[in-house]
Amino acid sequence: MNPDLVAKTDLLIVGGGLSGLAIAHWALKKEPTLDYLVVEGQGRSGGAVQSFKKDGYQGEWGPHGFLDNKPATLELLEDLDLWPEVQKAPLKEFGRYLCLKGRLCLVPQSPPTLIKSDLLSWWAKLRVLGDLFIKADSSEQSVSQWAQRRFGPQVLPFIDAALIGTYAGDLNRLSIDAVMPGLRAGEARYGSAIKAVVAQMRASKGQPRNLPQMISFKEGMERLVEQLAQGKKIRLNFQVEQLIYKEGGWLVKSGDQIIEAKRLVLALPIHQAHPLLAPLLAPPGPAPATAQIYNLLLGFGPEAKIPYGFGYLAPAKENRFALGSLFSSHMFVGRVQEGGHLLEVLIGGRRSPEKLELSDAELIEKTLADLKGLIELPNPQFVKVLRPQSAIPQPELGHKALIDWRDRLLKAYPNLEICGFGWDGIGINEVVQLAKKTALGLKISENQIKGVYL
Ligand SMILES: Cc1cc2nc3c(=O)[nH]c(=O)nc-3n(C[C@H](O)[C@H](O)[C@H](O)COP(=O)(O)OP(=O)(O)OC[C@H]3O[C@@H](n4cnc5c(N)ncnc54)[C@H](O)[C@@H]3O)c2cc1C
Repeated sequence: MNPDLVAKTDLLIVGGGLSGLAIAHWALKKEPTLDYLVVEGQGRSGGAVQSFKKDGYQGEWGPHGFLDNKPATLELLEDLDLWPEVQKAPLKEFGRYLCLKGRLCLVPQSPPTLIKSDLLSWWAKLRVLGDLFIKADSSEQSVSQWAQRRFGPQVLPFIDAALIGTYAGDLNRLSIDAVMPGLRAGEARYGSAIKAVVAQMRASKGQPRNLPQMISFKEGMERLVEQLAQGKKIRLNFQVEQLIYKEGGWLVKSGDQIIEAKRLVLALPIHQAHPLLAPLLAPPGPAPATAQIYNLLLGFGPEAKIPYGFGYLAPAKENRFALGSLFSSHMFVGRVQEGGHLLEVLIGGRRSPEKLELSDAELIEKTLADLKGLIELPNPQFVKVLRPQSAIPQPELGHKALIDWRDRLLKAYPNLEICGFGWDGIGINEVVQLAKKTALGLKISENQIKGVYL
């Protein structure tokens, strides 16, 4: 049976998550009369960004917030008139904790303040300075290989925690070039990571250097994608199975339906784009690995003694059941009834996918046992296990080959654009920035040294 041609459009955006919606936003801002269509495989748009509300508790299936230090995302808030709904949690007011030797320790918010603290021994601090004398090595390395060589082994738990907090990843597999491209470029240029950071600080002298703030919205992160989707042309339940390049245009197939487009933007997570792109040009290897995390919401009364701050993370070395927890009711007001507390506990990740196989009852029991060893907690008044389908693509060793492959695809197919979760970063700020650049036809790569906030 021949597939039905169900639509024709100038610009087809595949993927109705934050990336696809943001592409549509900026493409329309540039060209208001644009003929476009967004297609989304699921029955709702928004992808990983989804909020949860029940019995006075409010949590998140996916992202909990983003830092207010990237202009593209701030521009989006302005365009969408979302500023009145913004909630802010400043990093400088909220401490973060690390589970070290079985107890929660307040950690300094950035690498320079970590060096000044007593969390590292004198020997470890001296070893960190060894970076100044170690030759730059541009070969592909995992984060742990790189950090161990430049700074010594004692910094690994801190780096591990930072990577668990962002990627739910494994520092033995993540590629340093993909995770910290700006720092690697600086290291190559100045011969040392510390010198590269100092050079960047000098270059930005005179500019305000406040710690950023975490942003969410009163009704949760979903407001961002809800507002973006407003008034957009979106076709739901259109799961793209095949891309056919024909006579300079695209035929995009889902079941027995086909859409014809002059230009195509693939705004999908890298691991979901991979099987669609592979028939167009042979990929360098399999689709990248992902890390899935479940979120266990635990609501408590006022008697819970939760330390003030954002939350805690547990490096793998600590061998805890949970990856860490957000102290959500401290970060943002209105996540729980007055006087109560809400923890959002993260479980699974790249290193422990087997934990996701446990039943709700087992997850709850093991999580509570773990947390009660760290925090003085009564029995919870509210419990909910969120098992999101979305997973975090991992920029592991071999990621560069995937980026080179994307660049070759873009050259081979001039009316194809590729953006989305995991290509040039995994955070909201990064995918929004990439979406803006893609929509405006700007150059994609940017090599600034990113801040690391533990
Ligand atoms: C558990 C979790 C926690 C996170 N926490 C944070 C955080 O705290 N801060 C932060 O900054 N970022 C966080 N992120 C990352 C953030 O959610 C992503 O950067 C962002 O949502 C990516 O948007 P996207 O549109 O690129 O991808 P997605 O959100 O994955 O959207 C892709 C869309 O494409 C659709 N799709 C897939 N394949 C097809 C197909 N073949 N045809 C049609 N449609 C298709 C999917 O259904 C989906 O709707 C988190 C992510 C996860 C999963």
